Amino acid sequence: MQTKIIYPGTFDPITNGHVDIIERATHIFSEVIVAVAASNKKNLFTLDERASLAHDALLSYKNVSVCTFDGLLIDLARERQILLILRGLRAVSDYEYELQLANLNRSMEPKIETIFLTPAEKYSYISASMVREIATLGGDTSQFVPPAVQKALQNRLK
Ligand code: ADP
Repeated sequence: MQTKIIYPGTFDPITNGHVDIIERATHIFSEVIVAVAASNKKNLFTLDERASLAHDALLSYKNVSVCTFDGLLIDLARERQILLILRGLRAVSDYEYELQLANLNRSMEPKIETIFLTPAEKYSYISASMVREIATLGGDTSQFVPPAVQKALQNRLK
C-alpha cells in the first residue's frame, strides 16, 4: 500500500490555500512531498526562493518535505517511486484544467493516480496569482499567506 504523495505546483508563492491542502493530506498520507516546479512562466520568486518559502511555512509538519524539480512530473514520480499525485480543487473552474493534467499524466504513466482535495471554503478563492496582484498594488496579503511569505512579498515589491 503506497502512502506517500507528491504535491506539485509552482507555489509562486505558497499561500494559506496550499497549506490547508497540505495539512489535510498529512492526516491521510504518511509523507507529503511538496514539489516546486522550475516552470518557464515569469515568476515573482526564483525556484530556490519558492522552495525556501514553502519549507519555512511547512516546518511544523513533521511528515512534509519540500523538493524542486525541473522536467516532467511523471519523471520525478517514477524516480521517487511515488505514483500518487495530489492536487487542489477550489471550484468548478479548476476542474477542466486539472482533469486534462491528470489524464495527460496518466496517458504518459498509466500507473499514476491523481488525488484531489478541496480546501476550507475561506481559502477557496485564494490563488497565488491574485496574491501577487494584490501585493503588487500595495494591498495587505496577511490573511492569504504565511507571515514569512508576506514579508518576502513586501521586500520584493517595495
Ligand atoms: P500550478 O501553477 O501548477 O497550477 P499552483 O502552485 O498554483 O500550481 O497550485 C498547485 C495546486 O494547488 C493546484 O492543484 C491548484 O489548483 C491548487 N491550489 C492553488 N491554490 C489553492 C487554494 N487556495 N486552495 C486549494 N488548492 C489550491
